[in-house]
Amino acid sequence: MLGAIEAGGTKFVCAVGDKTGKIIERIQIPTTVPEETMPQVIDFFNGYQLEAIGVGFFGPIDVNMESPSYGSITSTPKTGWRDYPIVKTLAEEFGVPIGFNTDVNAAALGEVTHGAAKGLDSCLYITIGTGIGAGAIVQGNLLQGLSHPEMGHILVRRHPQDEYQGKCPYHGDCLEGLAAGPAIEDRWGAKGIDLVDKPEVWDMQGYYIAQALMQYVLILSPKKIILGGGVMHQKQLFPTIYKYLNEFLAGYVSLPELSDYIVSPGLGDHAGITGSLMLAKQALQENN
Ligand code: ADP
Ligand code: ZN
Repeated sequence: MLGAIEAGGTKFVCAVGDKTGKIIERIQIPTTVPEETMPQVIDFFNGYQLEAIGVGFFGPIDVNMESPSYGSITSTPKTGWRDYPIVKTLAEEFGVPIGFNTDVNAAALGEVTHGAAKGLDSCLYITIGTGIGAGAIVQGNLLQGLSHPEMGHILVRRHPQDEYQGKCPYHGDCLEGLAAGPAIEDRWGAKGIDLVDKPEVWDMQGYYIAQALMQYVLILSPKKIILGGGVMHQKQLFPTIYKYLNEFLAGYVSLPELSDYIVSPGLGDHAGITGSLMLAKQALQENN
């Protein structure tokens, strides 16, 4: 039995499951402050005999095993979680190996093992939700350098009709600052879900996402691109993204049929938690 946590800005999803990725039990806990959220997480896992736990956490986090602060959260706007040593806390509580990575890396791992990129040695998972982030599998492994990638904060060219200043507290009008859910709400004065009948919203959204995809394609050349997160529930975005990506790339690189290449998560909303189970499995294997 393995434990898994998908920690998002609004909720923690906790699950127990097995090495095949099968989820046996699953609960949700609101993300408030560690003193409130973590006891509930620990309570849930206390009901099971676990061999390892995998954690996919919203970034940035310290994933460098050589670092003294390995396994903690770093510069999050959710100040209660800043510097919180989640790996240490769980390891002390349960005495089992703990796998730790970003939520999007976990989702990429979930999708490549059991989802839309199953059988491939390369894919890119992007979430467009409260924030924008991406995890990449390259030659069978999660891409990591000094730390994990932060692909949501790249710079993009402005849409000619966009005068919105941008919402990223660090960069203003980076991709996340212009195209994540909170930026949509701020720019248009309503939540994405209530803007379904405004084509200009989704045209601008597609324009920004396609630019990001162009850069990811040119730099990483992934074999499959998976677009998840709340905003991507707006399925009408897909054709707009295909149109702009074709326009921007101008035939320079040859890609598969875009409707097969850029897809929704095969695991739906379970990509992250399934991937966290796979992080637990990896941690267990590394420990043996
Ligand atoms: P999180 O980022 O916390 O994991 P989500 O991926 O659901 O959660 O992202 C939440 C963001 O996505 C919010 O800004 C919300 O307004 C937006 N969102 C959620 N569902 C939809 C939808 N069906 N259509 C458009 N936007 C949505
Ligand atoms: Zn930014």
